[in-house]
Amino acid sequence: MPINKLGVHALVFTGGTTPAEVEYTVTQAKQSGFDILEISLHDAVNLDVAQARTALRAAGLDVVCSRGLAFDADVSSSDAAVVARGARLLQDSLQITAELGGTHFTGALYSALGKYGQPLSAAGRANVVAVLQDLATDARTKGMTLGLEVCNRYETNVINTASQALRLADDIGHDNVLIHLDSYHMNIEEDDFVRPILLAGDRLGYIHVGENHRGYLGSGHLDFTSFFHALGQIGYTGAITFESFSSAVVSPTLSNDLAIWRNLWDDGPALASHAHGYLTSALEGNRVSA
Ligand code: MN
Repeated sequence: MPINKLGVHALVFTGGTTPAEVEYTVTQAKQSGFDILEISLHDAVNLDVAQARTALRAAGLDVVCSRGLAFDADVSSSDAAVVARGARLLQDSLQITAELGGTHFTGALYSALGKYGQPLSAAGRANVVAVLQDLATDARTKGMTLGLEVCNRYETNVINTASQALRLADDIGHDNVLIHLDSYHMNIEEDDFVRPILLAGDRLGYIHVGENHRGYLGSGHLDFTSFFHALGQIGYTGAITFESFSSAVVSPTLSNDLAIWRNLWDDGPALASHAHGYLTSALEGNRVSA
């Protein structure tokens, strides 16, 4: 048995979070063998929190929530009204995560998900720090942790590397703010898969595993052997969540923000079962060879 709980991102199965979509996604995540369902809160307006909580509990699944912000609700802006809308979105999302029974809220909590036309300003960065200090304080009272997902340059201008994320977390200055690394983004921005994981060390709070094209694990060119060895080297015991996107499962907002234009697979449940086997095998190989 792997030492890490394994998760799957809901967009492997459904684009939104209506009650019917949540019911289907919970069932499929469980059937594929996962311990955790990650729910993106981009469609929170359609989410029935009580129904989702009941479905998750009944299936025995943990939940992690994630999100990015939007350009009109962006805490890295220098416009106070835009920052306030982003801060409100984060507070609401933290509350939903807690009500679902989750203890970890992660993602691009610090900016919109999209290509910026200029570098982050000093005023914008100060706004990120101030908003996330407040959010971390709120999270602490709820017994929760926050994740800073390091994303590539085409999706944010705030943090593109683990090193930048650690500096941001240092400036926020709350120990319930952790680093979230994603192999897909790391492939674009980091020197390799080893140094960032060693650098994050015990401040690594969450992992996304995705291929270089975000399709089937093992069908691309990412060096997952190095990636899992590095996780083993730091003794990482946190969650590892499979993330994949295809034009076969579309969220009108999130899929466009992430530039999901291609069909990389059609059958989400088959993809998920394969990913669960792949991750289990990689972690077992790690344990035996360690
Ligand atoms: Mn990710």
